[in-house]
Amino acid sequence: MCTENSRKIYEKAKESIPGGVNSPVRAFQSVDKEYPIFIKSGNGSKLYDEDGNEYVDMIGSWGPMILGHNYPKVFEVVKKELEKGTSFGLPTKKEVELAELVKSCFPSIEKLRLTTSGTEAAMASVRVARAFTGKNKIIKFEGCYHGHSDSLLVKAGSGLLTFEHQDSNGITEGVVKDTITLPFGDFDKLKKTLENDNDIACVIIEPIPANMGLIETEKEYLEKVRKITKEKNVVLIFDEVISGFRVSLGGAQKVFGITPDLTVLGKIIGGGYPVGGFGGKKEIMNLISPVGNVYHAGTLSGNPISVAAGIETISILKENPEIYENVNKKTENLVNKINELIKKYDIPASVNYFGSLFTIFFSKEKVKTLEDAMNTNDKFYSIYFDTMLENGVIVPPSKYEAHFVSYIHNDEDVEKLLKSAEKTFQKIAE
Ligand code: PLP
Repeated sequence: MCTENSRKIYEKAKESIPGGVNSPVRAFQSVDKEYPIFIKSGNGSKLYDEDGNEYVDMIGSWGPMILGHNYPKVFEVVKKELEKGTSFGLPTKKEVELAELVKSCFPSIEKLRLTTSGTEAAMASVRVARAFTGKNKIIKFEGCYHGHSDSLLVKAGSGLLTFEHQDSNGITEGVVKDTITLPFGDFDKLKKTLENDNDIACVIIEPIPANMGLIETEKEYLEKVRKITKEKNVVLIFDEVISGFRVSLGGAQKVFGITPDLTVLGKIIGGGYPVGGFGGKKEIMNLISPVGNVYHAGTLSGNPISVAAGIETISILKENPEIYENVNKKTENLVNKINELIKKYDIPASVNYFGSLFTIFFSKEKVKTLEDAMNTNDKFYSIYFDTMLENGVIVPPSKYEAHFVSYIHNDEDVEKLLKSAEKTFQKIAE
C-alpha cells in the first residue's frame, strides 16, 4: 500500500502545525507509525486518503458519524442551510427546534445551552455546578475524558493517556488542587471522599467510559453514585458526549434508568459538524447568563449549519428506532466473531463492548479499570493497527479509544474487518 502523499504532507505539516496535526491522537505516534494518513474524503462507511487508498472507517470521527459520512438526508439539509448563510451571531428558530428535540429524548434536560464543542460544554457545566452549590472542588474519574479545559485535564483519558501523560503542563496548582480524581468503579473511595470534604460542587463522570478504551459500566455502581451525590447535595454531571444518542436515543441515562442533574452532549447532536451542549435542571440552568450570572457564550454557539445537521440526524434516529437495533446487533455479532477468532488463535486479547462501541484490549483478562487498560500489550495493539490499515480498515490509532460502528457499515465491511482481524491474530500468534 502506498502512502507516499501522506508522508509528504506530514513533512510539510510539521513545519506549520505542532506535531503536524490539530489533535494529538491523529499523529499515529502511539501505534509506532512515522506519519499519519491524511484523509481526502469520506463517504458512507469509507474514508479515502491522499494516495487514493480506501479504508473501512471504524473511527467515525470519534463518534458523530452514527449514520456514516455524508448521509444523504443530512447532506441535503446542510446544502440547503448553506444557501441561507452560515453564521449570524443572532438567535435562529432552529436552535429552539434542536433544544426541544434533545429535551424530548432526554427527560432530565429541562433547559439546554449549545456550545461549539464538548470541551466547552463540560467546562461550562462544571462552572454552573460550582455556582449552584457555592462550592469549589470537583470530582472526576481517572481515565475519563471531558475535553481539554484546565480542571478536567487532571488524570484525563483519551489523548493524554495515549501519550502517557498524567496531566497537562500549563495548569496551575490551584486548579489541580480543586480537582479530585478517583478510580472509576471504586464506590467506597467516592463515598469516603464525599463524606470527608464539604467543598465538593460536582461529580462528573462518563457513564460509559470510552476514553480509556471502552469500559463496561455496572448499573449498580452508577445507581450508588446517583444516590450519594443526591444525599450530599453534589451536582451529578453525566458526560454523554460519546454515549448520548449513541447507546440509545436517550443515552446511557435511559439505558441505566438514572437521572443526572446535568448532562453534557456533543458529537451526534451536531451530525458531524462542530457542536456541544449541556443541560439539566431548570434551577441550575437558569443561573446561566443572561438569566443569571454564570457566564457562557460563543461566536459560533448554536451555529445554524451544525444545528440543522443535528436536527436532521436526531430526527432520523428518533423516527427509525430500528437504527439502534441495527448498529447494536451488528456490533454484538462482530464482537462475538472477534471473540471466536481470539479463541481460535489463542491470543491474549479480550473485547469490551456497549451498544455500537467496542475496544479490543490485548490482555487475556477482562479490562475493568484504567490500570487494566494500561497493562494491556502496546506492541500487539500496534501490530493490530498496522495490519488492519494494510488490509484497508482504519481502527483507532490508540489502544485507549473505542471503535465506532455506524448504521451504514454493511456485511462486506464487517467481513473485511473480520478477515483483517484474523490476519492480525495470526501474526500475533506466530
Ligand atoms: N467528553 C467526552 C466523553 C469526550 O469523548 C470528548 C471528546 O472526545 C469530549 C468531552 C470533548 O469533546 P470535544 O472534542 O468536542 O471538545
